[in-house]
Amino acid sequence: MSTIEQLKKSADLIKKNRPSYRDLLGFYAQVFEAQEQSRQEIILSYVVIEDDLLILKKGSDMPLIEIAQFQVDNASAAKLMGTLCDLALSLETDMSKDARHIKGAIKKGVFDPEQLFPAILENRESALKTLAKKINIQVPKLILFGYLSMAPSIAACARQLALYLEKDALYNHGYCPICGSQPDLAFLDEDGKRYLKCCFCSHQWSIKRMGCSFCGNFDPDKQHYFYSDDEKEYRVNLCDSCGNYIKVVDLRQINRYFYPGLELISTLHLDLKAKEKGYAGSICL
Ligand SMILES: [Zn+2]
Ligand SMILES: [Zn+2]
Repeated sequence: MSTIEQLKKSADLIKKNRPSYRDLLGFYAQVFEAQEQSRQEIILSYVVIEDDLLILKKGSDMPLIEIAQFQVDNASAAKLMGTLCDLALSLETDMSKDARHIKGAIKKGVFDPEQLFPAILENRESALKTLAKKINIQVPKLILFGYLSMAPSIAACARQLALYLEKDALYNHGYCPICGSQPDLAFLDEDGKRYLKCCFCSHQWSIKRMGCSFCGNFDPDKQHYFYSDDEKEYRVNLCDSCGNYIKVVDLRQINRYFYPGLELISTLHLDLKAKEKGYAGSICL
């Protein structure tokens, strides 16, 4: 079964179990499908890290690159942005109005998505504000559309960069070894090994089973979690040392294909609960 078929099947299974997520998952499942399709068309040049720099980075546990160094296939990201706008319009989501404004601005020639992608990666605040004003959209919403459109390129770039890392090596830091962003999801594989997933580039790395994913604190008095018997596959780890939380998916408890984006979207109630308790989640972009 292809990834797209498996992802559709997983989305249907989650929708059945959690009907309150039907509309949101209906939209995002199609977003992920469009991203998977876009992934097959991406053409990118390699990011080369010279040997000396690589040794330095690894020796000091620094991420391989900075966000601004990610390569994006501008043409395919712009095409994907058009598809995502059409999806938001056809499903009449909260994003429909923004999608209409983006499409209108592209049509009028006042906005070129290819200007947006580097502005996001380089965190050029004034350029983003100017673009958002031209489109009549809030900056965070514009960044969301831009990020969702660039995500296939970013993930492809991360996969290439992962070749510079030792395969299956434990990396016990609370940030991505490729781009330095925080993890937004943890999971336990079939053998109970713990992995983290980067909120920005989607790279996954293995980490020690115990301790906080962010600060590494081991003190049992500071490490807590909550879970529900109705959702045995999820658990939320809370750390009193750094004040962060992370959602954990136990793959031994699910009978569906694990597609991290779907799990993230369909567990927003757990984010709410963790935030109500006073803990903070990862912040990307
Ligand atoms: Zn990353
Ligand atoms: Zn911590």
